[in-house]
Amino acid sequence: MPIEYRACPDKLQVHAARFAHFALSLIVRLIDAGTNTYIVGRGPSRILIDSGEGRPQWIASIKSLLSSENITIDKVLLTHWHHDHIGGVSDLLAHLPNTKVYKNEPQDGWLPINEGQRFETEGATLRAFHCPGHTTDHMAFVVEEEDAMFTADNVLGQGTAVFEDLSAYMKSLDTMSKQFKGRAYPGHGPVIADGPGKIAEYIMHRKQREQQVLNVLAGNKGGEMGSMDIVKIIYKDYPENLWEPAERGIRQILDKLKQEGKVGQDNLGSLSGKPSL
Ligand SMILES: [Zn+2]
Repeated sequence: MPIEYRACPDKLQVHAARFAHFALSLIVRLIDAGTNTYIVGRGPSRILIDSGEGRPQWIASIKSLLSSENITIDKVLLTHWHHDHIGGVSDLLAHLPNTKVYKNEPQDGWLPINEGQRFETEGATLRAFHCPGHTTDHMAFVVEEEDAMFTADNVLGQGTAVFEDLSAYMKSLDTMSKQFKGRAYPGHGPVIADGPGKIAEYIMHRKQREQQVLNVLAGNKGGEMGSMDIVKIIYKDYPENLWEPAERGIRQILDKLKQEGKVGQDNLGSLSGKPSL
């Protein structure tokens, strides 16, 4: 497993692998407020994946790590546009102005990341893999030497992944799982030992939810239903304050089923979430 550090207000704490030596570790995970950033490589100049949300602890920890190990960062690869992944870029560039910043759909001054693009550093080759779903610009990276993948926010070490587009997300999960056989290094939460196994669980879970919605619609025998009506049936044993967040997920399932022609508008009175009574 990679060596791991937790960013703290005044000093770095080695979180795990306490006795592993930094220099022997191909991948270093730095945890800051639940968001992971990774330093990849074995040489004097390494690749950083993501940049945290811009907290002072994060850049302080990066500076401390780089100086204690006498290394630098020459490239930062950003997995997607969310602030908790790109927020530290300006602090990083203030410290290391020559670092190149890469992102799919780059901002001004940044460089693009394209499907299949390779990024090399001593000890590691990273292959970019476009996997929209969580966001449209979402990129994962296969570590060829480890047969592992940086999965960013499509697959998490803990909690539930969220996505903008369920249909794209499901296709991405399927294709991601075929790119590697080893660990998944997620954007949040601990490293996952069996990456493709975890992805298979995600796919199974999503398919079960989808089937539940289809069952509810079939049981309704053509009457009008809103997304909240479906929530009230599927989540009837859950506290009511969870119904509203659950409804967002149900609407995404309905959108996917409509795209696939599995439900028509005649099954659904309203997608606005208001009961259609
Ligand atoms: Zn995100």
